Amino acid sequence: MSSSAEKSKYSFFESVSLYFDKAAKHTGLDQGLLDQIKSCNSVYKMQFPLQYEDRYEVIEAYRVQHSHHKLPCKGGIRYSSKVNQDEVMALAALMTYKCAIVDVPFGGGKGGVSISTKDHTKEQLERITRRYTVELIKKNFIGPGTDVPAPDYGTGAQEMSWIVDTYRTFYPNELNSHACVTGKPVVQGGIRGRTEATGLGVFYGTKEAVSYADDMEKLGLTTGLEGKTVVIQGLGNVGYWSAKFFHEAGAKIISIAEYNGSIYNPDGLDPDAVHEHRVSTGSIVDFPGSTTLEDRYEALEIECDILIPAALEQQIHMGNANNIKTKIICEAANGPITPEAEEILLSKGVMILPDMYLNAGGVTVSYFEWLKNLSHVRFGRIQKRFEENAYKGILNEVEKLTGRNIEADKKNLLGRGADEQDLVYSGLEETMVKAYQDIREVWRDDSNGIADLRTAAFYIAIMKVAKAYDQLGIFP
Ligand code: NAD
Repeated sequence: MSSSAEKSKYSFFESVSLYFDKAAKHTGLDQGLLDQIKSCNSVYKMQFPLQYEDRYEVIEAYRVQHSHHKLPCKGGIRYSSKVNQDEVMALAALMTYKCAIVDVPFGGGKGGVSISTKDHTKEQLERITRRYTVELIKKNFIGPGTDVPAPDYGTGAQEMSWIVDTYRTFYPNELNSHACVTGKPVVQGGIRGRTEATGLGVFYGTKEAVSYADDMEKLGLTTGLEGKTVVIQGLGNVGYWSAKFFHEAGAKIISIAEYNGSIYNPDGLDPDAVHEHRVSTGSIVDFPGSTTLEDRYEALEIECDILIPAALEQQIHMGNANNIKTKIICEAANGPITPEAEEILLSKGVMILPDMYLNAGGVTVSYFEWLKNLSHVRFGRIQKRFEENAYKGILNEVEKLTGRNIEADKKNLLGRGADEQDLVYSGLEETMVKAYQDIREVWRDDSNGIADLRTAAFYIAIMKVAKAYDQLGIFP
């Protein structure tokens, strides 16, 4: 089973709209307003040439601004041969709801370039990225106050660096030009903690979700991540960092699936060692101590406590949903479960932590990076030393009053001022915990008829966007 049509009768954008409609029924809002919230405000499709020594290639690309109720629009850029308009529209819509859920003051946006990164050299990728940026500039689809891209599938800090450099070439006098894109390397105005932010958010969100004894009891699980068995699909940015944080918290990563093979070890896999093996051999298969699965998709069907799809959309569909044997699915990727599969999984009692909440760590820390760029100062720089001096003063006073010395290691730890990474991690944890509590409150409220976490998350997002429209009014 491989084609989209066999996986679901809905396109990706239709799936997002379906989830939207399911939640919208509970809002009591005017249908016209709901239609406005649901639709994509601007869709920009472009084609541009890439010149090789002996030929040309026409590259197809998109930028979609789903909602202008808050500006700038915000959302990653995806490089994949599967990129199409429907996919970019779906991802842009998810960004609007994601930002609303975690209280990040942006409208949703998304970009996509229909290329396979594996078939292009670094030099070609740089030319494509710079040309794509120029196409965005031409139509005012990029800028610190209008639309701010970030990394997504197939892109990372390197592409963001090329984007900011191209933008600065066109706007050399714009003071805030670095805020035109997030996910940049730290020396180019990026922020510490952005690379791992999405995976870290997946970890914080799941940690919060598994901390409620009554919710876990219904799944036949105990609270906490320690000892839980985990399967991860995709060892890219989001999958690797999720795996690393889960592993460090004592969860057991029993299987990892990649596009060219999946590995299994019931005693647990160390994500760093698997990553190193992949870097040196080009694949995760044949990792020492693991079994290579015959069919790479088999990994999704292994019995485990937590399944983390962290690759692409439509991975759990009507063809394999009945074989899924996990208790919790953490949607690290966007749209990994089709609507048909979700129905099957919910009827089996599987807990699904929805993408629009769970992978919002990336946009949350992108928001922090944007704020850093606008304020032109590193977080922690102003107060770190002041805090350290104050904490050390208090600890010295405690020692004097008690007549006992605090161990040097402990004193150093307690006496530290917060640096940028500390503040980013704490801001992200607070964001993920608070958002989960909001979603859980709606989900567990017996009076509203909302029976799953995705519908609860959509309900909250729709109400927040509707409130913005209500207060702003519609111009003219
Ligand atoms: P990435 O390109 O860094 O990694 C994706 C990984 O998935 C790669 O290792 C790739 O080889 C693997 N893969 C591809 N097809 C596969 C398959 N069929 N089976 C198993 N593995 C497969 O991308 P990423 O940034 O980690 O994004 C992954 C998902 O997370 C996407 O859905 C993306 O939209 C979502 N997401 C990313 C971010 C971010 O900050 N990067 C934020 C939010 C959501």
